[in-house]
Amino acid sequence: MAEDLQPMNITDYTPTDAAAPTGVVVIERSSTPLEVGPKMNQTAADVVRFLMQQGEMVTATQSLTDDMIELFAAEIGAEIRLVDPGEEQENELLKLLEANFEEDELEEDYPVRPPVITVMGHVDHGKTKLLDQIRSANVAEGEAGGITQHIGAYQVEKDGRLLTFIDTPGHAAFTAMRARGADATDIVILVVAADDGVMPQTLEAINHSRAAEVPIVVAVNKIDRNNADPNRAMQQLAEHELVPEQWGGDTIMVEISALQNLGIDDLLEQLAVVAELEDLRADTEGRARGVVLESNLDIGRGPVATLLVQHGTLKRGDPVVAGASWGRVRALLDDRGNQILEAQPSKPVQVLGLSDVANAGDAFVVAPNEKVAAKVAQTREHSQRVASLGRDAAATAGGARLEDIFSQIQAGQTATLNLIVKADVNGSLEAVVDSLQRLGREDVKLAFVHRGVGGVTANDIQLAAASNATIIGFNVRPDRKARELAELEKVEIRTYEIIYNLIEDVENAMVGMLAPEFEEVVTGDAEVREIFRIPRVGAVAGCYVLNGAINRGSKVRFLRDGTVIWRGTVSSLKRFKEDVREVQSGYECGIGLSDFQDLKQGDIIETFEEREVARV
Ligand code: GDP
Repeated sequence: MAEDLQPMNITDYTPTDAAAPTGVVVIERSSTPLEVGPKMNQTAADVVRFLMQQGEMVTATQSLTDDMIELFAAEIGAEIRLVDPGEEQENELLKLLEANFEEDELEEDYPVRPPVITVMGHVDHGKTKLLDQIRSANVAEGEAGGITQHIGAYQVEKDGRLLTFIDTPGHAAFTAMRARGADATDIVILVVAADDGVMPQTLEAINHSRAAEVPIVVAVNKIDRNNADPNRAMQQLAEHELVPEQWGGDTIMVEISALQNLGIDDLLEQLAVVAELEDLRADTEGRARGVVLESNLDIGRGPVATLLVQHGTLKRGDPVVAGASWGRVRALLDDRGNQILEAQPSKPVQVLGLSDVANAGDAFVVAPNEKVAAKVAQTREHSQRVASLGRDAAATAGGARLEDIFSQIQAGQTATLNLIVKADVNGSLEAVVDSLQRLGREDVKLAFVHRGVGGVTANDIQLAAASNATIIGFNVRPDRKARELAELEKVEIRTYEIIYNLIEDVENAMVGMLAPEFEEVVTGDAEVREIFRIPRVGAVAGCYVLNGAINRGSKVRFLRDGTVIWRGTVSSLKRFKEDVREVQSGYECGIGLSDFQDLKQGDIIETFEEREVARV
């Protein structure tokens, strides 16, 4: 390896004396010189030198194109077969990992574990309210951490027994999990509003639970309402083969009011009873495995994932693989934000230290060591990377991201900052480009790969990915497709509404001080589908929530064709005629924006939060 570190002279290259490998060498597409070299009895440096001689600048850890690999093989006289990074290999490795968990003991020998409970039911029947009520009633005031953290799941205690609740109501999350093969739920609470009865999503929820063979406990909610008719709701449920125990059936039904905290204790007791009957057990010994409930990128803490442990014990310091991400567990936090050292089955924990954001529903496993963890994750990532190989090759053309620019300067290299600038109007575009140009220094060049008027689009992202550019948006925002693609392609988008901040950020990046104190996190967006003009109230936007959730009181940006045309807050939020606190994606709602009246169909309402980011 030492010779890798020597300055390389391209005239130096002569193949190592070692004989060419015999037989066909199988090489995965988009392998790096570090991987290719040894397979052909050469060093990584040999590969790099050879390719340099061919005019291809690559580093030892960079993915190679098919051509590059074939060229080198021809030079060596090796016969090769290029294969797609195989799922087979991944499965083999995963099996290898999981082999250790084979349940060779009888389940009865395992300790009892808490049930994992998901709340489902028709929209507005009170799922969120119920989850909030259960959680808040069970956090003693003044307790360490005070209020619970929303990490996607939480645990409460009932008569000395723990119950785990998945904190995303509705069956969207439940089905998404199942689609990935993760059956995380042991019991479903089916919430049915006593004043509304069985509705379409009630039936969907019943079907999903049945398909998953998960027992249902019915919570007949809103019994405080004048027009509540619990009997009618039960009758309707009975028609769908959920016959209440009271009527000789075998479905537990509890009448509750999530709003007034009535019957909830009874509900929890019934859940404990069902859990007992189900006799849920899991091995607490050995390396943990389970499922990813949630995962996101936190600017201060890096990738953060909420994992639900299903077997074994997850400990701080464990090497884990979760989907295509891996890492050593740097910290474990429970649902109250407490640092803990280990987590046993049915315990949801936030994990810091993963390399990347995993997908909800991905399985996670603790690997025997970090090396194996990295390898499995790599195999998964590899297959994703093949698609973007073109991009890797293009990146050698130079250019650095905003974050990396300073390290390049420090390393004594002349750095080029490739930029794509998008702005709302021509005037501001010119102003931005002008001001940026003035920042150029001898050691940092600014290259404008593209500049244009309008929102940040998927095309911009593709261009940025291909040219390793950072996107700067002034008074414009990426649309949904662009945002998704940017995440996939790891393209950095920075948007500003104040030119001074924009210039300051780029300037700071150049002196290595890029450390924003606040990071904006988009919490939801909705599309305006209809406009209602209501006397004395003004315009209300009939919207469809596309992503995340819209909350009353949230900060909001109003976008038309990707351009910010208004900023303010969500002043009113309704579903049908009722005021609501929050509306999740996939639902319609009415949004009022205080004094803003200039609404048009197709406009986008984007809500966001400002979160404090720790200085690095
Ligand atoms: P979700 O869509 O099922 O999550 O429903 P929410 O929990 O958001 O509740 C919808 C609306 O019903 C909210 O305005 C709640 O305050 C209200 N709500 C929920 N539970 C009760 C209840 O037990 N009684 C009454 N009167 N209202 C309730």
